[in-house]
Amino acid sequence: MVSGSCGVGPKTADVWLAMVARRPTMPVDTHIHRLARRWRLAPSEEYEDVTAALKELIRPRSRFLGHLVLIEFGRDICHARRPACDRCPVYDLCDAEDRRPRQ
Ligand code: SF4
Repeated sequence: MVSGSCGVGPKTADVWLAMVARRPTMPVDTHIHRLARRWRLAPSEEYEDVTAALKELIRPRSRFLGHLVLIEFGRDICHARRPACDRCPVYDLCDAEDRRPRQ
C-alpha cells in the first residue's frame, strides 16, 4: 500500500499499482470488503487490516487474478442485499451470518 500527502487514498494507490504497474498489491473495493466481512477474514473492517489479511491468504503472483475473481464473485453471487446463496459454489464452506438457507 502506498499513500501520502498527494490526495490519493490507499485503495486508489493499490488499484493503480495492481492494474498499471502489476505490483502484488491487494486492492479492496466494496465487493471484496463485503466478502472479507462475511467470511470474517480480517480482525477489523479497516482497509489496512483487510488488505493485509488477503495478502496472507493469496500469494503475490495470484493477487491480480484473485482481486478480479473476488470482485466478480461479489457482483455475480455474493450480492450486498440478497446474496445468491442458492447457487453459491462455496455455500458449504460459508458461515456468514447473512447466508440464506437453500430451498
Ligand atoms: S453462501 Fe451466500 S453469503 Fe456465503 S459466500 Fe455464498 S453467496 Fe455469499
